Amino acid sequence: MTERIIRISDARRSKPLPDSGSLDAGRLDTLGRALRDLRISVTDRCNFRCVYCMPKDVFGPDYAFLPRNELLSFEEIERLARVFRGHGIEKIRLTGGEPLLRRNLERLIAMLAAIDGVELTLTTNGSLLARKARALKAAGLHRVTVSLDSLDDRVFRAMNDADFPLADVLAGIDAAADAGLAPVKINMVVKRGVNEDSILPMARRFRGSGHVVRFIEFMDVGATNGWRMDDVVPSAEIVRRIGAEMPLEPLDPNYAGEVAERWRYADGSGEIGVISSVTQAFCRTCTRARLSTEGMLYTCLFATAGYDLRSMLRSGAPDEAVSSAISRIWRARGDRYSEIRTADTAKSRKIEMSYIGG
Ligand code: SAM
Repeated sequence: MTERIIRISDARRSKPLPDSGSLDAGRLDTLGRALRDLRISVTDRCNFRCVYCMPKDVFGPDYAFLPRNELLSFEEIERLARVFRGHGIEKIRLTGGEPLLRRNLERLIAMLAAIDGVELTLTTNGSLLARKARALKAAGLHRVTVSLDSLDDRVFRAMNDADFPLADVLAGIDAAADAGLAPVKINMVVKRGVNEDSILPMARRFRGSGHVVRFIEFMDVGATNGWRMDDVVPSAEIVRRIGAEMPLEPLDPNYAGEVAERWRYADGSGEIGVISSVTQAFCRTCTRARLSTEGMLYTCLFATAGYDLRSMLRSGAPDEAVSSAISRIWRARGDRYSEIRTADTAKSRKIEMSYIGG
């Protein structure tokens, strides 16, 4: 059959821990970057089949998702999060798959919210948000990012490929704002010829709402989404298109290493962001580590292999040993995939976004 049928498990290879002897002391990686953010995937399952992320021909009814005992437990996640906090992380983002599908997620949120000095956020497709926003806030979640690719119900249903209605996601965004999970960020992945007509309606609708729309370049994550450079709408074009109707001015980043480039409406009615992973790589300031659903640590979204922290936990390793492993892994890190991307690298068997966490 075609190249597209790839057993994802083939790509979930683990790497041996780096040797500590050859590494310089200190907390920075080989390119001088600190560890600041931890993304945790709490499930590899999703109720959407977004065509660019979990295409149905790969993630069909027979697809083998991880069995329950392979997932990190809430206690294991909390333990790792605390160890990571000791390495300076300031922000945790829960993701997936669809994180709100993980049963009793509020319990995990309450456990993570008890860690001092960490901002706790979550990325969701919004499908269950109207029901869950209040409980998430009450558990201690600070903010949410909602993925929404179009304000045209027909285009939206086609892109999520689960026939999920737009109105329910919009209700989820309202519920999140009402619950105080604000400012709500709204992520739109732009794919040439698929939803580029939704760029302006999206900007118009959320201008003045207090929500921040972020336009994301379609990326070659994973190996199943059939990525081609021609499908990417460069951020510069998006800014030009919006700015022609609603004048924009550049804004400084909120903090060093912020992924989105910020623009404000010249009339003061809010801001947008663009995330240009393809056309303007931001590897140089990347401070993110990613913990997969089954406890593999990845130091890049475009990784082909990770480090198996779950085995360490389940074989009885003390916190000090886990901490030392994280330190070695981070200090050996030299990833800068987006800076060296070519048509050939785009075809390599990278980890799927739904597994590693977006
Ligand atoms: N299910 C949640 C959601 O929909 O937000 C969290 C996981 S999802 C993988 C996280 C984000 O990754 C979403 O905003 C999604 O649109 C984005 N994403 C997935 N595949 C992508 C790709 N190939 N390029 C750019 N963004 C992508």
